[in-house]
Amino acid sequence: MSLRGVRVLVTGAGGFIGSHLVRYLKAEGCWVRGVDIKEPEFGPTEADEFELLDLRRWENCVRATRSVNEVYALAADMGGMGFISSNHSRIMHNNGLIDIHTLEAARQNGVRRYLFTSSACVYPEHLQEDTAVQPLREQDAYPAQPQDAYGWEKLFIERLCAHYREEQHLDVRIVRFHNIFGPYGTWDGGREKAPAALCRKVAHAKLMEDPVVEIWGDGEQTRSFCYIDDCTEGLHRLMRSGYAEPLNLGQDRMVSINELANLISDIAGYPIEKVHVPGPQGVRGRNSDNTRLREILGWEPRIMLEEGLRNTYGWIEEQVAERLRASRQPLAKPA
Ligand code: NAD
Repeated sequence: MSLRGVRVLVTGAGGFIGSHLVRYLKAEGCWVRGVDIKEPEFGPTEADEFELLDLRRWENCVRATRSVNEVYALAADMGGMGFISSNHSRIMHNNGLIDIHTLEAARQNGVRRYLFTSSACVYPEHLQEDTAVQPLREQDAYPAQPQDAYGWEKLFIERLCAHYREEQHLDVRIVRFHNIFGPYGTWDGGREKAPAALCRKVAHAKLMEDPVVEIWGDGEQTRSFCYIDDCTEGLHRLMRSGYAEPLNLGQDRMVSINELANLISDIAGYPIEKVHVPGPQGVRGRNSDNTRLREILGWEPRIMLEEGLRNTYGWIEEQVAERLRASRQPLAKPA
């Protein structure tokens, strides 16, 4: 189906998934407005229009959602486990304001479809206490007991979207991402997630010829990882579907953090020595049950973890090498 003439807003368009999504939607023929509180970090935006707006503020949300047919709501104050586990009040406050205002502004501006990006962090902690965890089904989210404020806020906004659909007839979509990774995302500074952090640590080890790589915890905690190109395609397919309930979007191949580090080390062609240090680890195990995803979209993510990691590692090694060249100083070995 051609999307020519469809006017789309992507919030968080300066971020990792947002900047990839803008490129995807442009290639599909949409007219795209990107909005973020910051410029895209790793290259110019491909959006037709890009506005710097703080979406915690109501009037900015009204401006952002004017004269568009569809909204992909990605803006969030977020990061990896280190950030999420130590910024509860900030995350709930900022993301609550962004999401409540963007949704209501979209309704007032007559937006036809609204896609909210939720997270696997909504699932109850007690279902994720083993490394060999049962894959999480959408209905497992209740009774609710997310681990962090980040997950509670996402769950609350999922409910808000459902009520806007029932009472305000806004056509909503709700996606629950499971660890999206790829190039052109945050790779240092404290907000990076496990795949980017491990790529950076392995690249640093290789370039500095010091094989020690620190891993938070015993490294046996498990996750599934979904490559960004599958994520953007899944988002597009979900938006075009008629499905308004929450839907997982992730891979269902689970690996431990130790295994992930070994895969990256193989890709780098540099053997590492893992040293386990204390650090936030999140839940013990997490995997996506893709039964409903397959039923609803007739599709599921298919890019192999190894292939995604090759692309991601290649890009991050370049970033680390450039940083080292620029400073002519070894990077401080990060935690
Ligand atoms: P990201 O941090 O790269 O992108 C989020 C963007 O939102 C950033 O560019 C940030 O500047 C912007 N933002 C923050 N505060 C803002 C404000 N007040 N006004 C306007 N923009 C603001 O994160 P991402 O990985 O691209 O995630 C996109 C969405 O997907 C987020 O809602 C996130 O919670 C969700 N999500 C991501 C993952 C993942 O694995 N990456 C997993 C689960 C859920």
